[in-house]
Amino acid sequence: MPNLNANTASSSCTHPHSQTHTTCRRCNKGSFHIQKSTCASCGYPSAKKRTYQWGQKEIRRRTTGTGRMQYMRDLPRRFKNGFREGTQAAKKEAAAPAS
Ligand SMILES: [Zn+2]
Repeated sequence: MPNLNANTASSSCTHPHSQTHTTCRRCNKGSFHIQKSTCASCGYPSAKKRTYQWGQKEIRRRTTGTGRMQYMRDLPRRFKNGFREGTQAAKKEAAAPAS
């Protein structure tokens, strides 16, 4: 790293600084090291997410339920109905006289 004071304004006036990190495609943070090609935040491209027990707050912020839960959101309802697929709901008026 040629410029040690890359973040100060005066240093950038004289010396062009190169970026070491860029946006990570997994965690969307600017922690993806370009030369090492690993993410300092989530550990991408490793299969497992980079977590530590000393970072309980960080785990809490990224765990299940912090996002949209696109798949798990309607799992309880599908479980209740026996994970049926490709069927049509029976008509209410047809079901009423039979019972
Ligand atoms: Zn990442």
